[in-house]
Amino acid sequence: MRKIDPADEAQLFATIDRWVEREVAPRVKEFDHADRWPAEIVEQMKELGLFGATVSQDYGGLGLPATTYAQIVMKISAVWMAITGIFNSHLMLALAVEKFGTEPQRRHWLPRFASGEIRGGLALTEPNAGTDLQAIRMTARRDKGDYVINGTKTWISNGIEGSCFALLVKTNPEASPRYSGMSLFIAPKGPGFTVGRKLEKLGYHSIDSGELVFQDYRIPADHLIGEVEGRGFTQVAGGLELGRINVAARGVGIAEGALRLATDYAQLRHTFGKPIIEHQAIALKIGEMATRARAARLLTLDAAQAFDRGDRCDMEAGMAKYFASEAALENSTESMRIHGAYGYSKEYDIERLYRDAPLTCIGEGTNEMQRLIIARQWARRSQA
Ligand SMILES: Cc1cc2nc3c(=O)[nH]c(=O)nc-3n(C[C@H](O)[C@H](O)[C@H](O)COP(=O)(O)OP(=O)(O)OC[C@H]3O[C@@H](n4cnc5c(N)ncnc54)[C@H](O)[C@@H]3O)c2cc1C
Repeated sequence: MRKIDPADEAQLFATIDRWVEREVAPRVKEFDHADRWPAEIVEQMKELGLFGATVSQDYGGLGLPATTYAQIVMKISAVWMAITGIFNSHLMLALAVEKFGTEPQRRHWLPRFASGEIRGGLALTEPNAGTDLQAIRMTARRDKGDYVINGTKTWISNGIEGSCFALLVKTNPEASPRYSGMSLFIAPKGPGFTVGRKLEKLGYHSIDSGELVFQDYRIPADHLIGEVEGRGFTQVAGGLELGRINVAARGVGIAEGALRLATDYAQLRHTFGKPIIEHQAIALKIGEMATRARAARLLTLDAAQAFDRGDRCDMEAGMAKYFASEAALENSTESMRIHGAYGYSKEYDIERLYRDAPLTCIGEGTNEMQRLIIARQWARRSQA
């Protein structure tokens, strides 16, 4: 079980709070409105060690427990959720290598990932396959000491600015069951690997979402994670719990950020001779938003604690992800309404939270799928 000294954790949180206040908050509108890659902020994230937040100290990371990591994500997301995607997707790549890679793979890749020297993400989705990942068409064919990869990935976070991805492919497209023919590779950019286009989005700006095209892309066989074919689907599923805790933490951040903005505004704005927070209709909204944000935080910490104990926590992570992302959506909508016309203005921060929130309902498994996973696990545990 991973642990952190409470004094070290408090110091880390204070450092993150200071950084968000001094470096992120003053510049977020400028980057977000231009949908510009925040190069300076990424450099600062490297210095803070965020690209190695959950990588073990043995391999140059901070080795943080999920509870500490989740609270860092909450703090940043309360101001600007999108930048947490720059290190979170990258940490999913690192997790796959640390958990399922061979020792030489860990020694080679993890220190470079942890320092941010090599940055990237997780490339699973294809134009025809998102939720139904076993329907992917990308193939890797063995050719002596190499694999030759062909196909297209889409919606890949960090796809343009990143340089290395955990790439899910079919090494045996005819396999039955389908998952037994799937493998996961460490795929650095090189000949045969090109970026198709940058995808334009409603929100989640500044982090690039790209289409990645592979045409006779050749990599050495030692880039197959674990160096055994057919384990890719299980390896991807093995990272889902931490991935969902991370998206839940982003939802908590947005839900709390939206609440804070609404509370501040409702205390300042007067109508009919008093601050609008004193009108019962607005007070009821604030009461509901505060309760949702707190419940989302507690569910997320509950899942993170289970993860840190090494317990099975697919149901807990699913509940946290589902509830916190819906809380983000509802709180950002209500906060925007409390801001009246100013909620619709690009001069106020709430419009960004309102545009960013829906992604948390889609990423790391849609909320439709989360409820199915929760129900299945709930039924199984109820029998025991
Ligand atoms: C901004 C952004 C960033 C992303 N980053 C990444 C990334 O870094 N790497 C990556 O690999 N992918 C990434 N994705 C892709 C994301 O993971 C997928 O969009 C997601 O898994 C859903 O897949 P889909 O869009 O193909 O929807 P579909 O699978 O086509 O689903 C469409 C709808 O049907 C529902 N549905 C599907 N199957 C079922 C079922 N069996 N039962 C009930 N409902 C069902 C879904 O919930 C959804 O509402 C990103 C997406 C976005 C928008």
